Amino acid sequence: MRFGINTLDDIEVKDKTVLCRIDINQPVDRATGNLKDTTRIEACIPTLKELCEKGAKLVLMAHQGSDIEYKNFWTTEPHSKVLAKLLGREVKFIDDVCGPAARDAIRALKSGEILLLDNVRFVSEEQTLFETKLLLSHEDQAKTLLVRKLAPLGDVYVCDAFAASHRDQPSLCGFEQLLPSAMGRLFEEEFCVISGIMEKPERPCVFVLGGAKINDAFLMMTAVLGGGVADQVLTGGLVGEVLLWADGKDIGEPARAFIKKEGYEGLVETAKELLAKYRDKITMPADFAAVEGGKRTEFALGKIPAASLVLDIGTETAKQYQGIIRSAKTVFVNGPMGVFEEPATEAGTKMVWDALGDTAAYTVIGGGDSITATKKYGKTGDINYICTGGGALIRFLTGEELPVVKALRHGSKIKQKQP
Ligand code: ADP
Ligand code: MG
Repeated sequence: MRFGINTLDDIEVKDKTVLCRIDINQPVDRATGNLKDTTRIEACIPTLKELCEKGAKLVLMAHQGSDIEYKNFWTTEPHSKVLAKLLGREVKFIDDVCGPAARDAIRALKSGEILLLDNVRFVSEEQTLFETKLLLSHEDQAKTLLVRKLAPLGDVYVCDAFAASHRDQPSLCGFEQLLPSAMGRLFEEEFCVISGIMEKPERPCVFVLGGAKINDAFLMMTAVLGGGVADQVLTGGLVGEVLLWADGKDIGEPARAFIKKEGYEGLVETAKELLAKYRDKITMPADFAAVEGGKRTEFALGKIPAASLVLDIGTETAKQYQGIIRSAKTVFVNGPMGVFEEPATEAGTKMVWDALGDTAAYTVIGGGDSITATKKYGKTGDINYICTGGGALIRFLTGEELPVVKALRHGSKIKQKQP
């Protein structure tokens, strides 16, 4: 039991039917149906291996893609093949979620066998729109079709989907109302590492926030500065630009127009409030890079030409950030410093990631693009913790109780039947 939640050490799974929710949502190549990345599938392997080896009849539930934009909305069949390859054992797949075919397949499972059900979001109550429009209580989630049909076949529920733990959906929060529950090893690792940082970070604790999807960055900044977790926040990407704008500095009209177009103008007010309260803890870029005539060109703040669109922090800023990261004890990163996908505007991100790679600090990285940057610069092995859950991690850092954590605490109180 950790943080009020059972771990795999607390449950008996031998010859039991274990209903296990994982997050293996990955980008799909729609032309071939193949997965473009398998990071999340790899991450849940330890849990699945352990459960199989302990003799569970393992039923896997997962979603793929969002019903909101239908981007990547797809069957989980390709995932079963990747799982089988990584596990080195057969993973059965059934193109049904909780209908008679799925239930027959579950009943037919033998100890040590694995079955992956189809995309749970093919069931309407699992859809994101259903969640946002009709948000059911956890008790009511236990009455949805999926839980009503599958819970009676299961002995235990295991959730290893930390990356989806900010979602309030039946496959994630409903089963814990009825079945003895536990978190898987990945969930345990992600949740406990991050809880540890939030509760007692080794100081100085530095947050590096950048990127282009910045609502979350501002929520996080408010939480970690307000809660006293962060000693310092280093900013890049649009986060730095919005802060400078709020501070009355000229980041150039093209950058302001881009921020407006992305719908982040409202954050300028938030940034002003943050600066009023925590100016001494927030570091903003002092120089920038833009692409002029196909080449990287750097400008000090105050000297950005009117027509230039800044796309990276400058070398001086990156050097300053390197020094701070190298003398920190804990560093948390979300979001690149610039458009690192392009050679002319990658230097800021690359320099910061170099320092992340060789600092003695405990380093944590979250966010899809930040993980891509980590791979690109060959730092995967040097980072202490790479978190698969972007949205969940951010919600967690803002201090909200995650719905799945709440549900798992509930399900951890339900006792397993003794044979
Ligand atoms: P993460 O996935 O790590 O949370 P985000 O999705 O928030 O990161 O942002 C990543 C994207 O931000 C990258 O594709 C990068 O090109 C873009 N980006 C970074 N800095 C800037 C900038 N100054 N202007 C425009 N886009 C930027
Ligand atoms: Mg981000």
